[in-house]
Amino acid sequence: MTDFQPDSILVLLDTTPAGDLAKSAAGLLGAAAGVGTPVALVVAGSGADGDRLATDAAALGATHVLVAEPADAAQLTVPGADALAAAAELVRPDAVLVSNSIEGREIAARFAARTRSGLAVDAVGVSRDAEGVIAHHSVYGGAYNVDSAVTWGAPVVTVREGAVDARAEAQPASSERLAVVASGRRAAVVGSVDAEVVTSSRPELKGAAKVVSGGRGLGSEEQFALVDQLADVLGAAVGASRAAVDAGYVPQSYQVGQTGVSVSPQLYIALGISGAIQHRAGMQTAKTIVAINKDADAPIFEIADFGIVGDLFTVVPQLISALEARKA
Ligand code: FAD
Repeated sequence: MTDFQPDSILVLLDTTPAGDLAKSAAGLLGAAAGVGTPVALVVAGSGADGDRLATDAAALGATHVLVAEPADAAQLTVPGADALAAAAELVRPDAVLVSNSIEGREIAARFAARTRSGLAVDAVGVSRDAEGVIAHHSVYGGAYNVDSAVTWGAPVVTVREGAVDARAEAQPASSERLAVVASGRRAAVVGSVDAEVVTSSRPELKGAAKVVSGGRGLGSEEQFALVDQLADVLGAAVGASRAAVDAGYVPQSYQVGQTGVSVSPQLYIALGISGAIQHRAGMQTAKTIVAINKDADAPIFEIADFGIVGDLFTVVPQLISALEARKA
């Protein structure tokens, strides 16, 4: 049986419907390596190759990988919580890190409630002091940085996707099957799945390294194409403000902010977006923020690293030409 280090950090890695590790895996293992010894847990659903997932997790820094197979792959989140409970029992970690994805949040909450552990959600980083692991959060639209720690036991921390830049060193592959006794708790069950054919060649908004977002300032669905053009030159994902979504320029899935997607890209370009607190809540942790707005007093400039006061219909075509010229 494997001996786990006393500073082990148990990391639950999400998998994609195609059976690969989710993009969040690298950041989670990077965060774990900064505060202890990363031990990964993967729940290999139907069709997933547990051995390949374990090899991939080791390449991203997991010193050991526990591979669990769900008793019922159609169940949502309960198999993950059951596996996490079994893994925590075995590893006795100093902290449990989970992705702040929809599924990750629910598994973390179920696990924390079951084990009476403290739960810290939507962390943008973790560190360690003499008493244990601390979660760092960016709250109220990034206006405040808050630290949270638990007073007993191992904290369960969900980590915002894309927020952690640190990467762990690759480790030699080491894995074992994890025996999981199904808890029999009530679970939602997936009846059927219709794969949506994604025609876009752009990166997915969540977890993208670069995002170009458009707001009400774009004026119409047709004119929003300018956002797409700049995104394509940069190889960026496309986002939007709620006003742009409400006006019908783009679908709701593009919305960045409090009631949309939270992103932490390396580069975030806001075009014709005023920078309301609800929008900032979803993008303020971006590493570099560029704003183009014709109103010099727009609040987005308060958080922008680079700002251009001007009409976006004049500035953005010039920017696209300049970027294309550099590529040529
Ligand atoms: P506006 O505030 O109207 O700003 C448009 C900007 O475009 C202006 O600053 C203007 O100067 C500029 N502009 C206009 N024309 C040009 C031009 N030609 N060139 C350059 N600049 C130009 N919002 C979100 O984005 N995400 C959320 O998740 C979200 N959740 C919310 C939840 C709640 C409970 C509530 C109450 C609100 C929420 N909102 C959210 C809405 C938010 O408060 C703002 O209304 C919204 O973000 C405004 O979008 P906007 O910046 O595109 O529009």
